[in-house]
Amino acid sequence: MATAEGPLGELLVDDNVITRSQLNHALQIHKEQEQRQRLGDILADLGYITRRQLRDSIKRHGKKMRIGDVLVENGTITREQLQDVLGQQALTGDALGKILLDQEIVGEEELARALSRQLDIPYVVPQPSLVDIAVFSRLPERFLKLNSVIPMLETDGAVTVVLADPTDQNLVLQLEDMLGADVELAMCSRTRIADAIESLLLQKTVGGQGRAGEMAGGAADVLPAPLVIESGAIAEQHEVNRAASAFDYIVYRALQERASDIHIEPERDRVRIRFRIDGALTFATDLPLPLAQPMAVRAKALAGLDISKVLQQQEGRILADVDGEKVDLRVAVCRVVFGEAVAIRIFRKDAGLMDLDELGMLPAQMAAYTAMAAQSSGAALFAGPTGAGKTTTLYATLNHLNDGATKIVTVEAPVEYAMEGVVQNNLAGREAVDLPRALFGVLHHDPDVIALGEIDTSETVEALLECALMGHKVFATLHAEETASAIVRLANVSGAATFLASADLLVLAQRLVRKVCPNCSEVYVPRRDIVQQFQVKGFDPDTVDFRRGTGCQECLGSGFRGRTGVFELFVVGSEMRDVLLGRPAARELIELIRKAPGFLSLKQAGFVKAVQGITTLEEVLRVAPPIEAEVVREQQDVFEALIRKAGLRRGQRTGRNGADVADR
Ligand SMILES: [Zn+2]
Repeated sequence: MATAEGPLGELLVDDNVITRSQLNHALQIHKEQEQRQRLGDILADLGYITRRQLRDSIKRHGKKMRIGDVLVENGTITREQLQDVLGQQALTGDALGKILLDQEIVGEEELARALSRQLDIPYVVPQPSLVDIAVFSRLPERFLKLNSVIPMLETDGAVTVVLADPTDQNLVLQLEDMLGADVELAMCSRTRIADAIESLLLQKTVGGQGRAGEMAGGAADVLPAPLVIESGAIAEQHEVNRAASAFDYIVYRALQERASDIHIEPERDRVRIRFRIDGALTFATDLPLPLAQPMAVRAKALAGLDISKVLQQQEGRILADVDGEKVDLRVAVCRVVFGEAVAIRIFRKDAGLMDLDELGMLPAQMAAYTAMAAQSSGAALFAGPTGAGKTTTLYATLNHLNDGATKIVTVEAPVEYAMEGVVQNNLAGREAVDLPRALFGVLHHDPDVIALGEIDTSETVEALLECALMGHKVFATLHAEETASAIVRLANVSGAATFLASADLLVLAQRLVRKVCPNCSEVYVPRRDIVQQFQVKGFDPDTVDFRRGTGCQECLGSGFRGRTGVFELFVVGSEMRDVLLGRPAARELIELIRKAPGFLSLKQAGFVKAVQGITTLEEVLRVAPPIEAEVVREQQDVFEALIRKAGLRRGQRTGRNGADVADR
């Protein structure tokens, strides 16, 4: 090891990248921070060092820094914890990482990920299918196990090696010697490397047979999908084409982890793979850069795109069969600085329709909504941004109404779920879509219920209202933030007056919030400033057991598992009808809606769900639109009123000691 060991700041001063006084200034700030930033980030924020200089320095010096300093530097452990552990190290002579792990101060995965970030070395999960067995076999078994290393693949005379301790310079030199090639470093936790070595050795001896045969199960020949992935088969494919198998493996993992999107992003020295899980973008793994191009080619080939075109943004789709589950992958490829980035949306064909009562409406909302759905005419509009779950609500509603005696016709682009007994017009892929015309065409089917994917223009809104006036029940989704803006939008189309005078209208706005993971949830007291943002007068946080997830295997450390809807529902009653006919200003409308008896805003409904322990207040704030200040002044609701409006009964809402707050 080099002699110039020490914290990053010292190394930067030694290098004349920053001055001593600049370092002291940054250290001072670091010390005063409650939520500690990394020292490097503070230096960059202060303008003492550019991000590029920071990255280069960390890369250059990372290997000279001791693990303990690295962990303190990125906030994984405190300086005090380090001192404590160093004291023990002096006595036992054990490696620092070992002591930290033994005493469960950090988890193994956490340690490895922190090091990867700090040292700027890709974190590569050495899934056996991604490893070139010929390269792997170039080192003796004993050496691999003893040093926790996996030579993964070779490109242009450099071998990518995954190892548990990339700071071990002697080991790296030894590897270069033994492999007779330059070594590109990648890292992973010791346990994962050991597991991978075991299965790779097994593969070497039995040729990867058996497992694939056992797991195939014959599901593959059901559907002529261009992409068929079976968990067992992935291990075999690498003999044929490792890059293809890397792509397939990523898709497979994404489905295993319930991801909705896959992002394959080439960077300067690696390919970053990220998944969107429960709405949040999550790091999955890094892969060696040489896999980037072949993975993009595989994606494009499967999606029927032009492989030769790399400068152009292209979109396509792949029908896949992953371990018997049919999925529709929407692929978008575009050129970025370091190659081609691939983004994939996953649509699960087999995903079951949800029932209305699974959507997450509060009891009072559910009652109002089902009452409206049961009427034979009128219109219901669903508001919310893309990804807020509007389509799921629409399908759940149609499913609820689909009793065999009701004729339901839809106009969609595209049809996302096929529903038995429903006439679904798919407009996807047509050149120019004239929604109003399509809508009137639907009338020839003599429908009881008409559902429309997304209303895009005023003409479509008018056509829709006309259908409703003719006595049909109409459901449609609208791109509006919440109920008030949806109603404002509606009030401004011609024909709205006639419609409102004679037909019922319900507007439902929604968002999706992540649910607290039941496996690792704990009671916690939310920060005062967070609670205050909900403006619930007379609320005492001490009377409620708020819950949050601490992170576990089941939720992949996120503390959340699954999502649920938060709703804001408004039925246009007779008094509102009169107001609307007078073409009111938006503000006037918003205040009227807020003051309407029984009305819960998205934020208030979310608050109730947090009180129930279903989600967290922070999560609600993440998705709900802010309540405007002026409206807030009008808001006289106390906590009990909120609970009453939500329609919660005894036992549905438990506070401390299991007592029901609404009863107090
Ligand atoms: Zn959990």
